[in-house]
Amino acid sequence: MTSFSDLGLGQKLLDALDAVGYKAPTPIQAGAIPHALAGKDVLGIAQTGTGKTASFTLPLIERLSKGRAKARMPRSLILSPTRELAAQIAENFDNYAKNTKLTKVLLIGGVAFGPQEEILNKGADVVIATPGRLLDQFERGKVLLNGVQILVIDEADRMLDMGFIPDIERILKTLPAKRQTLFFSATMPPEIKSLVDRFMHEPERVEVSRQASTATTITQLQARVKDKTPAAKRDMLRKALDRDGVKNGIIFCNRKRDVDIVARSLVKHGLSAAPIHGDLDQSTRTKTLDDFKSDKLRFLVASDVAARGLDIPAVSHVFNFDVPHNAEDYVHRIGRTGRAGLAGEAVTIVGPADEKNLAAVEKMLGKKIEAVDFGKSGHSAPAKAAPASPAEPEADDAEEKPAGRSRRGRRPRKDQTVSVEADAPAKAEPVSNRDKNHSAPKPAQKPDKPAPRRERSGRNAQQDGDRFKGFGNDVPAFFNIEG
Ligand code: AMP
Repeated sequence: MTSFSDLGLGQKLLDALDAVGYKAPTPIQAGAIPHALAGKDVLGIAQTGTGKTASFTLPLIERLSKGRAKARMPRSLILSPTRELAAQIAENFDNYAKNTKLTKVLLIGGVAFGPQEEILNKGADVVIATPGRLLDQFERGKVLLNGVQILVIDEADRMLDMGFIPDIERILKTLPAKRQTLFFSATMPPEIKSLVDRFMHEPERVEVSRQASTATTITQLQARVKDKTPAAKRDMLRKALDRDGVKNGIIFCNRKRDVDIVARSLVKHGLSAAPIHGDLDQSTRTKTLDDFKSDKLRFLVASDVAARGLDIPAVSHVFNFDVPHNAEDYVHRIGRTGRAGLAGEAVTIVGPADEKNLAAVEKMLGKKIEAVDFGKSGHSAPAKAAPASPAEPEADDAEEKPAGRSRRGRRPRKDQTVSVEADAPAKAEPVSNRDKNHSAPKPAQKPDKPAPRRERSGRNAQQDGDRFKGFGNDVPAFFNIEG
């Protein structure tokens, strides 16, 4: 097996990797690091969860460790589409670079300019930025980009989705032509290919895909709501949440407005839930995410854009408050559960307005999602339910009627289990239809008990109070280098 020392990384980095508990490089790391260390441009096709952050951060640290930072002239620039992703990269950098003197600055929106400028003035080796804030600081003359020797673009396809390509082109034009570019994207749409062709120099292409894993099973269900009102959907959602085995979950909504309304409604009904979307200020988003990762928060209510690229650990459940407009988003959403061998369940609430989107999702899946009626289903008491109130709490807004608790005593019935590429825009294939009742799937771990570390995810390590242990010896089977 390839080891980190085979890749050409120096002792300081090897010690840091040892300290975070990584035993062996993941395929994207094994494929990209030697090229990057050799100073070549690298085009990495990989998604979040493959270890791609270290595949650019480690060689960047190694290559920069010899020089020194100059005031306002960073030697490297890492561009990320979202603030959270940028913050995650910064966190990774701090862990890997702890035995070096390298400094970094995080330039993201939603936080004050002052402290960022102070670090820039002292001299930062690495700037980790979202495009908007970087351009703001550039235009204010606080950061000069002509000393950048290494440029990293992370999640380029997300940049495209979020309309950042013109900003990226502007930034690229201000950088020295003689530089190294490490470019990462999960997919290669034509706009991204054009960027690569214009701004990269004979890049080495390293592609990693997540393969379908038979151990990764996601039960997919749909709960129909005949009533057109959002309150009826929220009522159904609570019934879906109020079941045995629902340890935690992400609730996706198509609209930001609904993200807020649903989160507020759940809190009013005594559940631990908070919203995450682009209109919330940075400190709130960071706190919400941290609370969710550390199990203080049970339900994260999110928009698709807010959830993208986040290193959110595997959850027992995904709930779709509505069917996404884009069928591929459905696969992204449900891939947040059932990761790396853990059982997962995805429940989609389908109202009259969702029919068209549902048809598109089912067409993509090549099968129907089984309908279940939680109102009539037989479930034992919820694993971790809302406060034991005799009845549902009060209605959360004018349109909401007080709802009854989910009824119990339903007979077991068939459901669908599928195997998908975790978090990948791939086709989900049925692997089995088996009888079991519709209480939520048995979690692979007892509620509140940390899963064994080998069941990969930041969460397991984090629950142990040691967030950066990563995969340890057991890099999951879905890692596969293709080119
Ligand atoms: P990323 O795809 O960069 O978001 O990484 C996903 C997760 O894998 C993060 O929690 C990393 O800390 C972890 N990780 C990255 N590389 C390794 C490795 N070689 N061994 C174990 N865990 C890793």
